[in-house]
Amino acid sequence: MKRLAVIHTGGTIASRPNPDGPGVTPQAAPSVPGLPGVIVHDYQPFNLPSPHVTPAHMLALAHLIEQLAPGHDGIVVTHGTDTLEETAFFLHLTLATQTPVVLTGSMRHAEEASWDGPGNLLDAAQVALHPQSRGRGPLAVFGGDIYDARTVTKVHTTAVDAFGGYPGPIGRIDRVGDSAHLRYFAMPEARPVYAPPALPAHVEILYAYAGWQGEGYAEADARSDGLVIAALGTGNLPAELLPLIARTTTSGKPVVIATRTHAGPVIPIYGYPGGGATLVEAGAIPASFLNAHKARLLLLVLLSLGRDLGEIRQVFEAGAF
Ligand code: ASP
Repeated sequence: MKRLAVIHTGGTIASRPNPDGPGVTPQAAPSVPGLPGVIVHDYQPFNLPSPHVTPAHMLALAHLIEQLAPGHDGIVVTHGTDTLEETAFFLHLTLATQTPVVLTGSMRHAEEASWDGPGNLLDAAQVALHPQSRGRGPLAVFGGDIYDARTVTKVHTTAVDAFGGYPGPIGRIDRVGDSAHLRYFAMPEARPVYAPPALPAHVEILYAYAGWQGEGYAEADARSDGLVIAALGTGNLPAELLPLIARTTTSGKPVVIATRTHAGPVIPIYGYPGGGATLVEAGAIPASFLNAHKARLLLLVLLSLGRDLGEIRQVFEAGAF
């Protein structure tokens, strides 16, 4: 018999209309539809809408997964879709286990005719138990597509096919009757493990826009151990930001430049004041292909491990994540 752990954390896949107020809320964890020859163990460390999930919950989840991994062939994590990619990437950074870990959820709740929960859960379970899933790091499964935690992102607020991300899925699962057809197209790059015992650091994200003159920057800088900016295009900002960033990096605090554009790398091309090349010259660190919220988790983990500015720069530059 194979052994599957299903860790329920809430989200729409556990939601129903709220008996005491408006909208829908997480209530009952779903069960995995029939899997012959599989013993399923259920766990529920918390039951939250994913906008209430914090890095502290992600760390607790990582500890639970490391504890369960030796006794199971695969682990499924059900999660709200809004921050699923953040939890997936946090696990990608911090888990050492080779046991497959697969995150899934649903876009429609259990009382809607189009509830996508059971199908996603069954797909995730079959992916988690598949021998070829070992050693690929945490994965996300939605609508039959299998994504690498490093690149997966939510691309639609309501569609059932809500997940994507450049360069797309690394595999696909389809079912014909009782049999699952699983194909992988790619093996994610090897990743180092960063496992902080706690997360004492504080990192904030600022979002750039046309005409931004740095409003909110000084306040965020004062509160934080590091900043991430969702900048424009290949990582450019209005000229007013250049001296502000130079001051922060000179003090030894990291400023990571991501992009608010939905795909592609941050690279230092432009030399006008605030252009990416001038930001890097001023000490800012390009986030490579990570979106701002994933770059923030990497920076949070590295700062919590006590890495200094030079070491943090090396991790981002080498793409060691
Ligand atoms: N809309 C979300 C979901 O699909 C709610 C959440 O993220 O908890 O699960």
